[in-house]
Amino acid sequence: MDYERLAELLFPDVKDTPEDMERRYPPRNLPEGAVVSRMAPSPTGFVHLGNLVQGLTSERMAHQTGGVLFLRVEDTDSKREVPGAVRILIETLAHYGIRFDEGAGTGGDVGDYGPYTQSQRKDIYHVYAKHLVQSGMAYPCFCTEEDLEQMRKDQEEKHVNFGYYGSYAVWRDRGLDEIEAQIRAGKPWVLRFRSTGSIENKHTFKDLVKGEIVLTENDIDQVLLKSDGIPTYHFAHAVDDHLMRTTHVVRGDEWLPSLPFHVQLFRALGFKLPQYAHIGPLMKMDGESKRKLSKRKDPELALTFYKAEGFPVSSVYEYILGILNSNYEDWRKCNPDADPTSFAFSYRKLNPAGSLFDYDKLCNVSKNVISRMSAEQVYDELLGFSAEFDPEFHALLIRDPDYAKAILGIGRGGKKPRKDLATWKEARPYMGFFYDELFTRDEPFPEMPGIPEILGAFADGYDEADAQDVWFDRIKAIADRFGYASDMKEYKENPEAWKGSVADVSNFIRIAVTGRSSSPDMYAVMQILGKDRVTARLRAAIAGLEV
Ligand code: GLU
Repeated sequence: MDYERLAELLFPDVKDTPEDMERRYPPRNLPEGAVVSRMAPSPTGFVHLGNLVQGLTSERMAHQTGGVLFLRVEDTDSKREVPGAVRILIETLAHYGIRFDEGAGTGGDVGDYGPYTQSQRKDIYHVYAKHLVQSGMAYPCFCTEEDLEQMRKDQEEKHVNFGYYGSYAVWRDRGLDEIEAQIRAGKPWVLRFRSTGSIENKHTFKDLVKGEIVLTENDIDQVLLKSDGIPTYHFAHAVDDHLMRTTHVVRGDEWLPSLPFHVQLFRALGFKLPQYAHIGPLMKMDGESKRKLSKRKDPELALTFYKAEGFPVSSVYEYILGILNSNYEDWRKCNPDADPTSFAFSYRKLNPAGSLFDYDKLCNVSKNVISRMSAEQVYDELLGFSAEFDPEFHALLIRDPDYAKAILGIGRGGKKPRKDLATWKEARPYMGFFYDELFTRDEPFPEMPGIPEILGAFADGYDEADAQDVWFDRIKAIADRFGYASDMKEYKENPEAWKGSVADVSNFIRIAVTGRSSSPDMYAVMQILGKDRVTARLRAAIAGLEV
């Protein structure tokens, strides 16, 4: 067979050679050990937690070694593409702090190894496609959908492996004349790889996450270019990751079955194989058993979910670091104020079977993260969230920033900061009572004697200028006056002797002022609310009790 002629016939316009490509995309000038990694998502409009896990792993590997992280948009499957999805993808990843050094961006490409969008790289793929044809390693196949369907049926009946191989590879050894006739007749064709592998051959492979695995050689003549000249994922992966000088491919383990073909393809193209880290799926507990997070059943798989719930980006980031590297949590305890990027992330600690996602754990992590923030920071983040998801609350927050920051500052700083909030969505129910517009009386007073009188006595004597101990002494005095024990120890020893205790008295005041029986420190709450509002609420509560 005259492969040279076949190549000209199939790719008459391709003039560049692989050598030209090597010159255009030379090896990177990086120090020994620097990892070049990438994210290569498809723009489906759905960015999920798995993308973030993969992104964060490659980001840490690249940046911890002084290497490069780039973003490549894999848009070769136009059926799956959604308008605007590339922008959503880039913006979402940026929101989660995945910092790319180069690649596709909303303002165009950055870097010398582009274009970084596969649909713009057709000419490059064709250089290598032509080269493979010239070397007898690829050939056109004119099978129709119906032909392939028939082949599948035959294979099913005969109980043999599916695929285009052996005697099923009907275009593998056709003569040039026959091929030429098809082309002249305008018949569509795909380009197939001529596999020399055999399923009898097995070899071991070292994956960075899975460890040593046994691969069976690929014997299928896989498609390299589809009939529109667009490459399959496999072919684009080999060409792109070689020319972009990727050293480490971090991707989901759903690609593991294709790995034997990728190994074969890199070899056929004369490319050095990158290192692979195949990440297991994210799992969750469903009753007693674990299962993969699913797009259909689990809203928490979508990254938009975390934004709408109001999880700070840093909470999601820290949580993911924690599920990937189990020693992260201890490190965080010893280094409460350190930047998470100073933690020594290791791909070696990734669980080969995949990580378990636990929503409650995320909330706990988030409570810690928020408790370490300054009131100023909390205020800024809350503004960002409320502007998008709760405009009514947002308007209240910006009406008096100092008031809002004072509220958010309660219990902050110090060794044991309060951990009230896991999400920004929880802020409104947590602090809404500070705003008359949102204040509601959610909890009734308990059935205990003398409540209106107690509230009246407290309102009469309330002095904003009191220090906390003086303020509390007043409450104790009121307790004594109305037959409630002011000393908790005495009360516990003989509860029958009193109507209740100072804890009950405090609770009456709390319910009157905040509308409920749990709130942050009441002294601080009253200081922020101010005397007028405190007494107005006490009086209104008394009036309510007296009707
Ligand atoms: N486009 C592929 C995907 O979204 C990329 C896999 C890879 O990282 O190579 O699954």
